[in-house]
Amino acid sequence: MLNKTYYAGQDLDAPCGRCKQETRHRVMTVTNGLPEKLICATCASIHKFRAEKPKAEAPARVPRSASAPRPAPSASRFHELMNAEQAGAVAKPYSVQTRWEEGAWMDHPTFGLGKVQKRAGRKVDVLFKDGLKTLMSA
Ligand SMILES: [Zn+2]
Repeated sequence: MLNKTYYAGQDLDAPCGRCKQETRHRVMTVTNGLPEKLICATCASIHKFRAEKPKAEAPARVPRSASAPRPAPSASRFHELMNAEQAGAVAKPYSVQTRWEEGAWMDHPTFGLGKVQKRAGRKVDVLFKDGLKTLMSA
């Protein structure tokens, strides 16, 4: 509870909606012992006194459409994961002349970015966003 006495002409600090911060205000009218109208000394706007809110802002109700980004489509999620895992490794363009080793990154003209999962003889299993593909290797 506030035990302060308010009076017209008093200076007090209050949150100003226009300044978006606590500013010095002058009390213009007092009703039932509480300031009713205040004038902001910074922007000179007149507004109603608002009880001071806690510093931590109440969780704002954000419309769903404007909230956190929607879950990405799985393809880009895949890319995200791959990019994170790739961590600077360079994806080599696919060629049958290349000897693909496990863990190598491949840039395939059709399937896109992939990672060699397993090598078996002259074939490699490569994980692309569309799934595992078996490709020829040198
Ligand atoms: Zn202001």
